[in-house]
Amino acid sequence: MNRKFFFVITAFLLMLLPLMAVKHPKNVIFLIGDGMGLAQTHAGMVKSKKPLALESLKHIGLVRTYSANNFTTDSGAGGTALATGVKTKNGMIGMNPDSVAVESILHQSEKNNLATGIVSACAVTHATPASFVAHQINRNMYEAIAADFLKTDIDVFIGGGKQHFVNRTSDDRNLVSELKSKNYKVVDSMSELKQLNGGKVAGLLYEEHPPAMPERGNFLPEATNVAIQLLSKNRKGFFLMVEGSQIDWAGHANDAERIANEVIDFDKAVQEALDFAKEDGNTLVVITADHETGGMTLPGGNIQNHEYKAMFSTKGHSGVLVPVYAFGPGAEEFTGFMENTIFKGKFAELLRLK
Ligand code: MG
Ligand code: ZN
Repeated sequence: MNRKFFFVITAFLLMLLPLMAVKHPKNVIFLIGDGMGLAQTHAGMVKSKKPLALESLKHIGLVRTYSANNFTTDSGAGGTALATGVKTKNGMIGMNPDSVAVESILHQSEKNNLATGIVSACAVTHATPASFVAHQINRNMYEAIAADFLKTDIDVFIGGGKQHFVNRTSDDRNLVSELKSKNYKVVDSMSELKQLNGGKVAGLLYEEHPPAMPERGNFLPEATNVAIQLLSKNRKGFFLMVEGSQIDWAGHANDAERIANEVIDFDKAVQEALDFAKEDGNTLVVITADHETGGMTLPGGNIQNHEYKAMFSTKGHSGVLVPVYAFGPGAEEFTGFMENTIFKGKFAELLRLK
């Protein structure tokens, strides 16, 4: 082959390389169904009169959830592993087992000028959302966790837990006033939230937790939609975490009906994320759980009648694998077996964060 021809061909192939490499999303939406194992997912599927949004996803994997000191994780260590890539001791938030603060994917996204947000169907100070924002040795330090929100530049957070920002016993700070002086719009109703069209937003809609389904209505999917609309105004992209918090609580109560209701509600938030991602074409959506709750099984039922019989082996969490589902650029990275520590690194790599 003549040398000139060889160089032209080589140069051409080198130009093609970036097109063949992994596609990089601009945005990541990470949805966590707290306590949502396969039995919980299936209960939702059986009860629902139409297919779940989750059922449309093609990239599926399995996640090991054990913590640094326990076969069975709690939501503090589980959330911390998902948010920071570090397995820690049960009960800890955003810290490694030696009580040293570790950076979450939300903080790293913020440092790289992405817009960041959290939506949770519980107090924003509760273990799962807290793991993305706070650094505390104990998940029950709600007031300290609320104060940690002020140490970040998170753009949007929506959930409950207002009392930990205003009616504080550990100090007399009023964190709502402090948020306002940091240019946050602090709102306490969905109608106000829906009217906002930009800027930093703290949606503290409940003193503590939103009610369970069906009393909660469409809070979670609507808050997810609002967060996506606000965050997607940032041209550099965004990272959003959405938690279906109360699947876990229904699991602790061994209440199969409530579990299905909470899974179906969480799936509506998944649908909001997928609707945006399909339209946008540049958004990775990843859905997983921090652990399974209840040791739930479904030994019988009737698919046509949307009925199932549930049994539970514990009032606590179990150590079994949980599913992960993904859609969008990079979705193929979330298939096969994996540890719960892989998410932060994969997101950072796919978003090309420094
Ligand atoms: Mg949780
Ligand atoms: Zn739990």
